[in-house]
Amino acid sequence: MSKKIYITIDGPAGAGKSTVARMLARRLGFQYIDTGAMYRAVALKALRTGVDLNDEAALAELAASAEIRLADGPGGSIRVFLDGEDVTRAIRSLEVTKNVSLVARAAGVRSELVRRQRKMAGAGENTGNGTGTGTGDETGPPGVVMEGRDAGTVILPEAQFKFFLTASAEERARRRQKDLQDEGREVPLARLKREIEERDRLDSSREVAPLRPAQDAQVIDCSRLSAAQVVEIIASRVGGKTG
Ligand code: C5P
Repeated sequence: MSKKIYITIDGPAGAGKSTVARMLARRLGFQYIDTGAMYRAVALKALRTGVDLNDEAALAELAASAEIRLADGPGGSIRVFLDGEDVTRAIRSLEVTKNVSLVARAAGVRSELVRRQRKMAGAGENTGNGTGTGTGDETGPPGVVMEGRDAGTVILPEAQFKFFLTASAEERARRRQKDLQDEGREVPLARLKREIEERDRLDSSREVAPLRPAQDAQVIDCSRLSAAQVVEIIASRVGGKTG
């Protein structure tokens, strides 16, 4: 039985993880799993149903009842479905972006999503001890690129290749501003930088699965690199070792 190859890409908001992970998965013919999209879907459901974002038990219940599906979209992108509805755009709204870290703090939400994320990746039942088997589904893609905050530390500690992408808050805010401009939305840089720093703070200081590089992660500073250059770096580091 061939063993699946797992590549994890973690890092703070706006470092370019999504673009890099998507391009890399496409290039390698691997499955791409955007774990942040799942937290966003739960946050959207919470905002829509008016659940108190500080009520951890209610959030956990909400996550357990949310049917979330990631499907292939055009050009290697993914589409996100929440309870059967296409929410690909809705989960990128400023309101969801602003509130998602509160939802992602809840331990019950995390355990539910981590369990699903391991299952989607075809990983074994073990979590957190680095001995998961990664059983290797013979019919599916040969590997998985999983993107998030805790992919290398919690979801797939057994991953063979772990990367942690960083960039200055200034640069990350600039990139986010450009993405929004491409969608026809104009948001001041200072506001985006503030929101990014606030999200970093919440993600790094939470009790469960805080944002940090795995001990065996390779850290790449992307401030002065294009997505294509980062993909090159990762592919060459992975390629040399997978033969
Ligand atoms: O990656 P993205 O910016 O879409 O993630 C949105 C939010 O979801 C993050 O700011 C973080 O609070 C949460 N998240 C997380 N763990 C992950 C992925 C995302 O807590 N693995």
